Amino acid sequence: MTCCNLLENAIEREVFYFGPQHRIDDGRIVNEVSTEYFIRAAASRGYDYWGVNYCPFCGRALSLGLWQAEKKK
Ligand SMILES: [Zn+2]
Repeated sequence: MTCCNLLENAIEREVFYFGPQHRIDDGRIVNEVSTEYFIRAAASRGYDYWGVNYCPFCGRALSLGLWQAEKKK
């Protein structure tokens, strides 16, 4: 389900979140990117989640919507 070992590692260490947005119940989503991948950081209350479209490590498209859009090109 992940593009590279670094991302898998980041999810294991919970600095990265993979899953549906509505399952996030311990923090808030900072930006409005339609994705299932989020960078997770401790905030003053709970966690902040930054949605990302691309893997920060290998640069591959992550989000389903973007992946489908790229496939059509
Ligand atoms: Zn990657």
